[in-house]
This record gives sequence, C-alpha cells and structure tokens, in this order.
Amino acid sequence: MQYKYYDILLSVPAEGVYTYCSTNNIPIGQRVTVSFRNKLKTGIIIATSQKPDFECKEVIEIFDELPLFPIQYIEFIKSLATYYACSLGLAFYGIISDKLLSQKQDIEYNQPEIYPTQNIQLNTEQLNIVNSININQYNCHLIKGVTGSGKTEVYQEVAKQVIAQGKQVIYIVPEISLTPQLIERLTIRLGFKPAVFHSKLSMKERKYNFFSFINGKIKFLIGARSALFIPNNNIGLIIVDEEHESTFKQDEAPSYHLRDMAVLYAKQLNIPIILGSATPSVESIFNTLNNKYILHEINNRSNNALMPNIHIIDMKNTELIGDIFAEPIYDSLSNVIKQNEQAIVLLNRKGYATNLYCVECGEKATCLNCSIGLVYFKSKNICSCRYCGTEYKNITCCNCGSHNFREWGVGTEKITEFLESMFPNLVIRIDNDNTTTIKNMEKKLKKFEQKEANILVGTQLIAKGLHFPDVTFVAILGIDNLLAMPDFRATEKAYQLITQIAGRAGRSHLSGNVYIQTFAPHEPIFQYINTNNMDFYNWELNRRQMVEYPPYTKLVRFVISYMDKDACYNIARYITKILDNTLQNNIFIYGPTEAEVSKIKNKHRIAIMIKAWNNSYINKSINIAQKTFQKYKKGSMILKIDKDPIFMI
Ligand code: ADP
Ligand code: ZN
Ligand code: ZN
Repeated sequence: MQYKYYDILLSVPAEGVYTYCSTNNIPIGQRVTVSFRNKLKTGIIIATSQKPDFECKEVIEIFDELPLFPIQYIEFIKSLATYYACSLGLAFYGIISDKLLSQKQDIEYNQPEIYPTQNIQLNTEQLNIVNSININQYNCHLIKGVTGSGKTEVYQEVAKQVIAQGKQVIYIVPEISLTPQLIERLTIRLGFKPAVFHSKLSMKERKYNFFSFINGKIKFLIGARSALFIPNNNIGLIIVDEEHESTFKQDEAPSYHLRDMAVLYAKQLNIPIILGSATPSVESIFNTLNNKYILHEINNRSNNALMPNIHIIDMKNTELIGDIFAEPIYDSLSNVIKQNEQAIVLLNRKGYATNLYCVECGEKATCLNCSIGLVYFKSKNICSCRYCGTEYKNITCCNCGSHNFREWGVGTEKITEFLESMFPNLVIRIDNDNTTTIKNMEKKLKKFEQKEANILVGTQLIAKGLHFPDVTFVAILGIDNLLAMPDFRATEKAYQLITQIAGRAGRSHLSGNVYIQTFAPHEPIFQYINTNNMDFYNWELNRRQMVEYPPYTKLVRFVISYMDKDACYNIARYITKILDNTLQNNIFIYGPTEAEVSKIKNKHRIAIMIKAWNNSYINKSINIAQKTFQKYKKGSMILKIDKDPIFMI
C-alpha cells in the first residue's frame, strides 16, 4: 500500500505540527483524529509532507465529508503565530479549544424564527458612513462616535447589505456587553435573532453555533473574542465594537490583540471591517492619520440628548463624607435621590478595604504566594488575593506575628455599606465579586432599570454599553489610582473610562451631571474630557512621540518566572547582555527588574522591556531572547513573550 504523508496541526501548547501518514488522499483543511502522546486528538491537515526519517503513525479517522478549515484560515493562524512569536500549536490552542475541535457535526438545525422588522431612516451622517464602506473588498473603517450617536445602526445597515449578498457577518463585542438589550435591538432590525458565541455558553450551545456558522446557517454571529476564530470562507464583514477595550488583548500566550487580528483576518479575506468606539485607542487614531484606517466621526447624539456637565472636584479643599465622597458630590447625590432620579457610583476597586496594615508594626498584609496586598471582603469575612484567588480566614503579620490589622483604602463593598446606611434599600452593587454569573448580573441590571433601586455601585463592569434613561448622576472615584499606574497608557485609560461613563449620564430627556473627585485637578487630562473632538488624541500623540512610546515605537515585554529569584535574574541579565551586544543602538532595553507584581503563585517574576523603532528589531530581540532562554533555562522556568503589551503588571 502506498502511504501519503501529512503535516497535521494539533491544538496543543507545544510546537503543534506533526507528521502522520495515511493511505487516503486527504485534502488540506480536513479534520482527522490521530494518536498523540497516547491520547486521541483531533487535528487539521495543513500540508502534504515527505516521508520522515522516523516511524510515523497513521491517521486514525477522517472527519467530515468536506474540509472544515479554509486555506485562508490556516494562513491566518500562521500569521498570528508569526506575529506573536509563538508556535503554531500554541496559537491554535489559544483560539480553539481541543474539546470543541473534536466534536462531530451531528447536530440538527432548527429553522430560524422570523421576527417582524422595524426600520429607521438613517440620518445623513450615518448614510455617508454606510456609503463610504465598500463591501466587496478590504477596507478598514473606524467610527468614532459618542455613546448613543447611532454607530450600532450603521453596523446593522452594512450587515444587512452583506447578508443580502449571501455572506455572513461576525460582530465582536467585549464579553460583558453581550447584553440581551443589544440582541433584542439587532433582532428587530434584522428580522431574525443573531446567534451568540462566547466561552460562558455550554459546550452544547457552542457546538451548535460553531457548526451552524461553518455551514452557513447562521448569517449574523455576535460574540466575544473566540467568535472571530470559527472557520468559514463566506464571511463578508467583521465588526469590532468598543475597539479600544483592553480586554481584547489576551493575557496568556498567544497574547494576541483581537482588534489587530480582526484587521489582519479581514485583509486576508479581502472583506471590509468596521471598528467602533466613543473613545478609540490612541493606536487606532494614529492608524487613521496614517491612512491605514478611514476615520468617521459622529459628534451628535441621534436623539439630540445633551452631553452631561462634567465637574472636577478638588478633594484638597473639601470635607469628605463617610470618608468617601467629597461634600459637593454627596450633596448632589442626595438631591438626585430626593427627586427619585438614578445615580451610578463607579470605583475600580472591589472588596471592602483594599489594603490591610498591621496595627503593631505597620507591615502590609500580602498573599503568601504572591507579592500583592490582600483585599478584605466584609460580607464573606475573608481576605483574598487578586492574582491567585487564595482566601485567608485569619491573617498573621509576617513581620511581628500580630493578628490586628487596620483597614485602608475603600472598595465598592464599603461604599455600598455607607450608601445603604444613608439611603436604605436603594442601593445595588455590581462587580466581579458578587456577580460572577451573567444571569445574576442581568437580574440586578433589570432591577435597576425598573427603578427598584436608585443607586448603582460598581466597577468598570457597569461602564459599558448600558442604557438607563433615568440616570442623571455619575460619580467617578479613585481616578487618581488609575492615573498613577506605572503604565504609559494610564492617561489614555483614564480618559476612556471617564468619557465612557460620562456617556451613561443624561442619555435621554433629563440632563446629567458627572462628578470626578481627584487630588490632582490640574492634570491635563481633565481639560479634554468635555470636548468631543480630537484634542485629547492630539495632545496624547504628541506626548507619546516625545517620550518615544507606541504607536511611534514598538514594544515587547519578556517576563521570566520561576521559584528561584536569582536564577530568574541570572538568565534575564544574560538575555539582556546578548541583546545589548547584538542589537546595540537599534533597541532600548529597560530592565531586568522585578515585575510590578514581583511574585505570583510562588513564582518570582523578572521583566525586561524592549523598545524599537520598528517591528523587525522587535522580532530579532524575541528571537535572541527565545534562543538564549532555551539554552540556559532551568526546570519549569517560563519565558512569557508579550508583544505590543497592554498589561504592565
Ligand atoms: P451607539 O451604538 O453609537 O451607542 P446606537 O446605534 O445605539 O448608538 O443609537 C442610540 C439610539 O438612537 C438607539 O436607540 C437608536 O435606535 C437611535 N438611533 C440611532 N440612529 C437613529 C436614526 N437615524 N433615527 C432614529 N433613531 C436613531
Ligand atoms: Zn496570591
Ligand atoms: Zn506586624
């Protein structure tokens, strides 16, 4: 019998491509089952191969009648792997779970229900955008429009045109905005219910939508990051809403940025892509200045609702009420409650107290496994670590053995407790801590929407995509913490947060007020939040150019982690030295230093940041770091490579 040889891509964190043989002719893109390390695994044929000089195993089973993975898709994964300097296996592993990959196509399709449609007349601004999008080839559009300006209506209109051509649409949103509100609106416009895809669905639901999309039964798919990676060669449009969201950057390897990968994919498929945001990333604005993306601005809200008044409150000159609120903010909140309007209080810290200090010696209580302060949760009466999740019932000072700690720093739980005491039964809290399930969160949001409560306290979770007509008051606390982050994007993030939140206030007939309390009212950022135009971006781009940070330069961040700190340092110093000798003036090296979080789960973390004017020197640096690391690494030591890093911890 004549054997043929194939390169098969497996969804494994290792290299990923392995040679197997078969007597069959198997086309590229076909799924097959093979034995890998004594386990059955599903992989895809990505190339024909030569007879290797080792004994090679036979393909056990051929899945599907037709190849599931188009060639462009395989090329796309290859580009992702190349860009983020990871193996093909790791790239594939990071985007499609092994479990989903190995499912059989044994589903029964339900006929989609037809819903009555309700159309609106787009205004001139919206029509101009729709008309400028060429749905027959690659073109990338960035719509910068305040919340409520009608971006979603533009997406829908273009999507309808693409669907009318018999093509499919992928609409990516940050996980949390997968709200029923949005699905409902889409259903009314499209006349059918869009399908949903994200990691919180059951495997059964995911499997159903995965194959329905592949087989063209789903015309419109809305989902989180993972929705981009369902193979199909009939995609006609990709939409990425809230393109500035940092959750689009995956933290674990492959640490890809969803937006950048969506643009790359659209290019490969030669189809249009629309990015949208009220507060685009500085990178995307830069790309419009370079004519890589086409910029559209919508500066008015479609229903003519007014933008809220923004008040910057200087905490240096005011009394603090409940140790939390600047007096004018508290007074205004009381008024809002008196008039039975609604208020949102935002603080990006969960828990009761964000720090605990030993009463006897002043030592900070930290996690035993990580170098990070513990957060106290009063409702559960525990302290917990933000990184490894370890919960401590009793804590002991590691310096003096005392059990007495003083609370310091306010979290959402404490704010809620204080507000409850002042406005009983009128407060709802939403943060990661007490609202882990989407259902639970929806329930609370519904309660707030139906005005069963007047005050919503929460973390950034509540800043996104919500629509509450009666909210007339928003308070943003703790912005100083955000601005003080050791991150060159700190100002951008603060700007985005404030602007997004401000968009929640006064969305209808009632006018809104947004209060921001700060010890640093002179910070330039506060000048720019009342303006809808490009002032902030011009200022920030100028600053980035001066300090030579992205988007003017490229970054890669290496983190070496291992139990033994000295061993980490040694190898990090070695890598740094070789980089310095080899690439000299073409790169800037920061470090090695302890990472901002210097220990996680008992592993020390030593970081090196490399900056270069272009991608090629970044890739050279990665290459050198990888090789040096492979040569000298010890035991379970890990080198994390984060290209275009967003999280600097
Ligand atoms: P965004 O996506 O920018 O936040 P939306 O598309 O959600 O804005 O629009 C906000 C609200 O205004 C929605 O209720 C939407 O139906 C409505 N709207 C948008 N465009 C128009 C229009 N041309 N005519 C009437 N209503 C519109
Ligand atoms: Zn920990
Ligand atoms: Zn102590």
